[in-house]
Amino acid sequence: MSEVSLLDHALVRLDEAAKHLNVDADVIEKLKFARETTKARLMIRMDDGSRKSFLAWRCRYDDTRGPTKGGIRFHPESTADEVEMLAFWMTFKCAVMNLPYGGGKGAVQVDPRKLSKAELERLSRAYIQAFARIIGPDRDIPAPDVYTNSMIMGWMADEYAQIVGQASPGVITGKPLALGGSLGRGDATARGGFYLVRHLAEELGLKGSLRIAVQGFGNAGQHIARLLASDGHKIVAVSDSEGAVRAAGGLDLDRLFVAKDAGRSVVTTAGQGGHELLDGAALVGVDCDILVPSALENMIRIDNADLVKARIVLELANGPVTAEADAILEKKGVVVLPDILANAGGVTVSYFEWVQNRQGYYWPIEEIHERLRTIMEREGRAIWDVAKAKDVSVRTAAYVHALARLAEAIEAHGTQN
Ligand code: GLU
Repeated sequence: MSEVSLLDHALVRLDEAAKHLNVDADVIEKLKFARETTKARLMIRMDDGSRKSFLAWRCRYDDTRGPTKGGIRFHPESTADEVEMLAFWMTFKCAVMNLPYGGGKGAVQVDPRKLSKAELERLSRAYIQAFARIIGPDRDIPAPDVYTNSMIMGWMADEYAQIVGQASPGVITGKPLALGGSLGRGDATARGGFYLVRHLAEELGLKGSLRIAVQGFGNAGQHIARLLASDGHKIVAVSDSEGAVRAAGGLDLDRLFVAKDAGRSVVTTAGQGGHELLDGAALVGVDCDILVPSALENMIRIDNADLVKARIVLELANGPVTAEADAILEKKGVVVLPDILANAGGVTVSYFEWVQNRQGYYWPIEEIHERLRTIMEREGRAIWDVAKAKDVSVRTAAYVHALARLAEAIEAHGTQN
């Protein structure tokens, strides 16, 4: 019996969407496999003079709708299979938002917390040396993902410029402002999800001050907590890799931000400002209105989906709810706002960055926010309407919405290639 890959699990959602749309079998066949996945072994010099090697990948999943687009993840458990699954999701995410991109993703199998800053820079440069022939502003455009950030994107953009002999800012997004980054990229993932929830509040039955639980307190998690709190909602629990804290009356966010900025876990705030310690695994079961998974894949699974008390799950992480858990949540009446829509604000502002780089003309923050809000509301509304018209989950509706665009593009390219 052949083993079921992570990508196979993700493809369940494509099969489900295909049931609700009249698309050619060729289209599904094309979308079931990554177009190319390149593997490299990156050798870098460590600070102690020794050399170490790390496995790395870049996947261009599908480029029918434009250059492939997607982040680079630095994680000790990354695999080629995971990279392909993430690139498949990017393909659908870009189509959901109608961005002129296909989907891609990259990773290095490394724990970046164990590297010095200089080692991290050498590793980031080595990644670009290995994949410079694959990426390019019209070919494949990386960005940040889990455990990578604007500083790393800056090193990578610099390395690429040195290799091709000219500044080429559109090759990578999520760069520091000084190197052609865009205003508003930092909180874009969370802000997109925030605009989506606000726009669909009435349909979702959300009224007044809401109680929010945030799983994962990195970039997306911290920003969504700040945005929702400033809109009058209460953050009742947050977690990170070391555990969780809760406060039924609302956590003191400043206290949490100070801890995170100092490199400490949220659990170090327990016992202060009414924060109570909570087991990290118990966060999904916290009594709240909106649960916001903002960490990694497979956080809500067959074994804990039943614990969820929230009415809404806002997926700021990629793939936090498994297909089996989806079915359980649906039965309980929990509405899941799916990753390929809910966290698409990040890649959308990446797109704005790329457009600004190509124009050499930079937009003010108000324009970034306004354009992001407009797209989130337009695509969110369209997907909500599909969900109602076809009586399917919001996730299936998002896949149907994206698949219709992908099918149109695949067919427009011609059938004899
Ligand atoms: N890594 C982010 C995502 O999963 C952003 C990708 C991008 O900006 O290209 O959507």
